[in-house]
Amino acid sequence: MTTLLYDLFNRDFATIHDPLQLRDTFFAKTLSITELATVFEYVAGSSITLGGKTIQGAVRIPGKATGGAPFAILAQLHGNEPAGLAGIALAIALSQAGLLARDVIGVIGNPLAARQYFASYLANPAARQETRDAFRCGVSESGALLPDMNRIPVDFATRTDNTPHTLRARDLFHIGQHINGIIDIHSARGNMLCITDHKRDEDLLGSPIRAVLTELAEAISANASAQVTVQTLKTILHPLPNIRCQTGIEAGRHEDPRAPYHAASFTLATLHGQGLTNVPPFNTDETGIFEGYRVRPRITYADLQIDGTLQPGDAISMAREVEGRIEDYQYDEMEAIDAGQVVAVARPSGVVLRAKDDFSGIFFSKAAALYDKDPAVGPWPVAASRLGEVKFCYPCERFDLKLA
Ligand SMILES: [Zn+2]
Repeated sequence: MTTLLYDLFNRDFATIHDPLQLRDTFFAKTLSITELATVFEYVAGSSITLGGKTIQGAVRIPGKATGGAPFAILAQLHGNEPAGLAGIALAIALSQAGLLARDVIGVIGNPLAARQYFASYLANPAARQETRDAFRCGVSESGALLPDMNRIPVDFATRTDNTPHTLRARDLFHIGQHINGIIDIHSARGNMLCITDHKRDEDLLGSPIRAVLTELAEAISANASAQVTVQTLKTILHPLPNIRCQTGIEAGRHEDPRAPYHAASFTLATLHGQGLTNVPPFNTDETGIFEGYRVRPRITYADLQIDGTLQPGDAISMAREVEGRIEDYQYDEMEAIDAGQVVAVARPSGVVLRAKDDFSGIFFSKAAALYDKDPAVGPWPVAASRLGEVKFCYPCERFDLKLA
């Protein structure tokens, strides 16, 4: 089918028939971003025909039994999130070893943004991750940010623009109508390793990722205007009855060397749970207990406790207190914050802002110095006059989640 894996692993997976040997061989290797770029090139250069429509940027990975709807592994709905390609590579390895029971399709969510991301990475791999943040969506020829592929207009099927964004939304919805399940693999600006959505509890059994966000969509929509004009892909696919297993994960920080491992390991657990392979997942001691994080609507800097009176010229930075000194500090995803803790400081006044409650947050406000293109990051420092407009984070309540 392809020499892709031989080139990456220097090993012919077709000669491996033992499930544990397959697993050990695949997971012994850490797939670098440069190597994931070759997986991208392979999938991006492939096409599938499903329900009479040919779709580029997707590959059919044959199982032993043909017929029936395939299972989909979706990578790079955001271009700068390459980890999901490791899940597609795993499915190819299973297929070549004869250890994949039925067909799987690997899909690049946003091929345009993903291509730009890899070009930028390969041109300057030492540049920090944040410099590639715009390739989450991709950029136009003039450098403007393109629409987010995970924000799909509600009228995507009928609108007359033939932009890559609308055409790909139609491709993805068409795929959604012809599959029996899907994993949507993302990564994060911060250190976020969690399950962000699942349709059925049973699909998480055996998962190596043990944190589960709940009410994420509700928390996000709480701040959206009543007139909903865009939806996430998850929301668009969710009503389709043919899709039984539908899960989404954050596999860690975008370019963390472990992110591809987390993506592939979750993919293995899912394929095993769906009866698509007898290669065992890593977590075979399932307790059914997960760390639940109930996502609350976002808070702004104005929702913090302000110790004193802000001055009109103040600029507020995210901060922490270390041995009595206040210093700028970027809080990270799921980082636990205690009630009363200093989390921001106004300068030049020196007024500090504290957390009102204990919480762990996600999607924290990010330093503007690192993210210059995307106002949705809640960039800091924040002008005192805009305190109530700029996101601080989405606080989460921790609970023990027991699945049936
Ligand atoms: Zn994403």
